[in-house]
Amino acid sequence: MTELLRVADVRRSFYGVQALTGASFSVRPGTITGLIGPNGAGKTTVFNAISGVIPAESGSITFDGTDITKARPEDISRLGLVRTFQIARGFPKLTVLETLLLHGDDQPGETLPIALFRPGVSAARERALIERAKQVAQRLKLSHVLGNLSSDLSGGQKKLLEIGRALMARPKLILLDEPVAGVNPTLTGEIADRIRELRDEGLTFLVVEHDMGLVARLCDPVIVMANGAKLAEGTFDEVAANHTVQDAYLGVRA
Ligand code: ATP
Repeated sequence: MTELLRVADVRRSFYGVQALTGASFSVRPGTITGLIGPNGAGKTTVFNAISGVIPAESGSITFDGTDITKARPEDISRLGLVRTFQIARGFPKLTVLETLLLHGDDQPGETLPIALFRPGVSAARERALIERAKQVAQRLKLSHVLGNLSSDLSGGQKKLLEIGRALMARPKLILLDEPVAGVNPTLTGEIADRIRELRDEGLTFLVVEHDMGLVARLCDPVIVMANGAKLAEGTFDEVAANHTVQDAYLGVRA
């Protein structure tokens, strides 16, 4: 397959403001694709449309061969397309392990009857889920904090836990919303290493990030959005040298 995700001519407006004006781009499997652009370019809106939170008004979105344009967020996530959030949402009273377990993909509707009538099955499921949470923590180098409260984690560890929650859903594609915002440079490097390792294991990423140093090191290709549509695509060096891209950023700064 040449593309895992295809966004085709997607439009969305809010109270007359055109946030997406015909956005079209694809994400190839096995890539860490960057999505950049000046403030208000439409990056968050396109993430919301892809993940089903705020659906597109027109156009189409296809994931892994399935049309998800009108699909509900939980169905999209079940297909293997999962999103993380810019501000790591906390569960102050939960440990890291409990936080991961909450995002396991077991069917909650089945859990109670099974727990009541087939306790052996329920216990086996729980053990499998705990095992998976531990594996996820290990992949993110969070094993040593599994028993800590999520709220006590450092900013960088919270970002990793946010990725961990996404991993619990067994995704094929993760939409990462500013994975290093507010994180110090050393931890930024570590988060980038973890993302690369996950890519090497077969995961695909679409990353919105304002830290251009990280985008340059991590993302290939890089898609540039401006005014609600794709403006350019290429390696970071190619798009950074593109005069139309430079004008889009300067226009906003001016
Ligand atoms: P930033 O880098 O600042 O996060 P962005 O590229 O993510 O920007 P969006 O947040 O998608 O851009 O915004 C695109 C346009 O859509 C902006 O004009 C914004 O004000 C508008 N917009 C986005 N979401 C909404 C909403 N829920 N209600 C009203 N307007 C919205």
